[in-house]
Amino acid sequence: MDNKDHPKTDELRGKAEAKLRQSSTLPKDLTLDKAKVIMHELEVHQLELEMQNQELRETQHRLEELRDLYTDLFDFAPVGYLVVDKKGVIKNINLTACMLLGLERSLLIGKPLSAYMSSGQSIKLFLNLNEAFKNGNLPSFELIMKDRKNRTFTALLQGMIPNYSKSSDTCRISLQDITELKAAAALKKEHDELQLEKEKIQRYLDLAPVVFLLIDSDHKVQMINQKGCELLGYKRVEILGENWFKKFVIGHDNTKVDPANESFQNNKLLLKPYVENFVKCKNGEKRLMGWTNIALLDNSGNQIGTLSSGEDITQRKKEEATKQRYMEELETMVGERTKELSDALENEKQISEMKSSFVSIASHELRTPITIVLSSIILIEKYGALGQFEKQKKHFNRIKSSITHFISILDDFLSLDKLEKGVVRVNKETFDLPNFINFTIGEMEVMLKEDQKISYTHSGQRNTTQDKKIFRNILLNLLSNAIKYSEKDIELTTVENNGTLTLKIKDQGIGIPEEDSQFLFKRFFRAKNAEDIPGTGLGLSIVERYLDLLKGSIEFTSQENIGSTFTVQL
Ligand code: ADP
Repeated sequence: MDNKDHPKTDELRGKAEAKLRQSSTLPKDLTLDKAKVIMHELEVHQLELEMQNQELRETQHRLEELRDLYTDLFDFAPVGYLVVDKKGVIKNINLTACMLLGLERSLLIGKPLSAYMSSGQSIKLFLNLNEAFKNGNLPSFELIMKDRKNRTFTALLQGMIPNYSKSSDTCRISLQDITELKAAAALKKEHDELQLEKEKIQRYLDLAPVVFLLIDSDHKVQMINQKGCELLGYKRVEILGENWFKKFVIGHDNTKVDPANESFQNNKLLLKPYVENFVKCKNGEKRLMGWTNIALLDNSGNQIGTLSSGEDITQRKKEEATKQRYMEELETMVGERTKELSDALENEKQISEMKSSFVSIASHELRTPITIVLSSIILIEKYGALGQFEKQKKHFNRIKSSITHFISILDDFLSLDKLEKGVVRVNKETFDLPNFINFTIGEMEVMLKEDQKISYTHSGQRNTTQDKKIFRNILLNLLSNAIKYSEKDIELTTVENNGTLTLKIKDQGIGIPEEDSQFLFKRFFRAKNAEDIPGTGLGLSIVERYLDLLKGSIEFTSQENIGSTFTVQL
């Protein structure tokens, strides 16, 4: 055995040899054989001792390891440990407890544990310690403790008196920070209560006749009532956690902010209080829903979800649409009927206006030429008896002119009646225009006043293709007006240019007042300055109607007391 490795063994050997030298004497009868036996015995003993020594060293080593292990276990245990005396003074404390109190071990040992408690808590410690030293057991209890930085925490203490006897003077205590544990327990309690509350609400909502839906800010369904499940045809578990818009809403674009439910205003997401959308049911059916939405906000006012109540409005909407269509149809019908009635009324009004105008015109206008005829006949009789034939001739002419006038009035009424009834048909023929005009002028000569002449010029092709009767009526009307409303000569020109006929009649008469010119073609309208001249106010309106039939046009220029020019284009 190498003694250099074991200085302690060397030392012991030295001491043992010295002792032997003092006490023992070698036996006098020591023979070589006896010595050999003793030697052997001694060698065996030495070997035994060395083995025992080795065993002891190994045990010591294991003990040291165990001590280290226990020190580690003591110091680094997740729970704080401390040893206190009867007065609560700290005798030993592990690292975890030191960390809890925020101080080094050397600063804590010898200090009263009560120094690290909130006020009013130490009494609890002393009462419990007192109990512990009476029965050897420290029951678990809670204390509000504080660390070096005055941070308070809830500690759970419990312990025992090792090898308890009346004379025991130390108590071992475990110290645990249960602040978070308590908070978690409180949270769990709150959660459990909420869960119960949620289940209660769910039961109430399940009884509701409308759909109730709760979705979170990711649009995931957090709650849906029985009615909602029935409507969609899914089991509740098949709906919960699903993206509402993606799975159940038709036509929803998930890449955008939900256009149906939310909108931005001043950069803030706002919920629309009411929306309508189609949802798809498990059986493929689609239902139109009307949703009333409420935003659920957290304490900072951020939207964390939406609670919506929804009603299946498919049937109602259909009925509304039918009603709306029916109403629209009814309105159209009423509108049409009203129009028909008001047209009829207007027609009736016009007819009655025409009738009364006709009565007053007939009584006045037709009376005048007949009176003239009558007075002329009386005078003709007289002049005949007196042999004054010249004067008789004059009155024959007056009778002729009055009858022409009479006929022209009747013609006007007849024309108007025909035009109104729509029985006038256009019948075009080709004829020699200047010949036709000259013939008509001849017819009109009887109407001309003294010293009044009609000068006529034509340019362009002679032949024209028109409805002769209508054209004659237009010409007669315009020409008779020019004669009637002027005393001086009248200029008549026609131009036939490759199918376009222009007729111009220029007089030097009373003209048309500016303010009356816009009403000139209205039936029965007569200008202010024409009141003393006989007329019906029908001629120009008839001309206009004829021109409509022929797709022609008429315009005029006029100046009061200078004259008027009427131009017709066909
Ligand atoms: P009437 O001559 O029978 O009154 P018209 O319809 O032919 O009816 O004419 C309407 C009105 O236009 C006339 O009352 C008259 O005031 C005005 N008018 C028509 N032609 C002329 C004209 N050549 N010169 C002045 N006024 C005219």
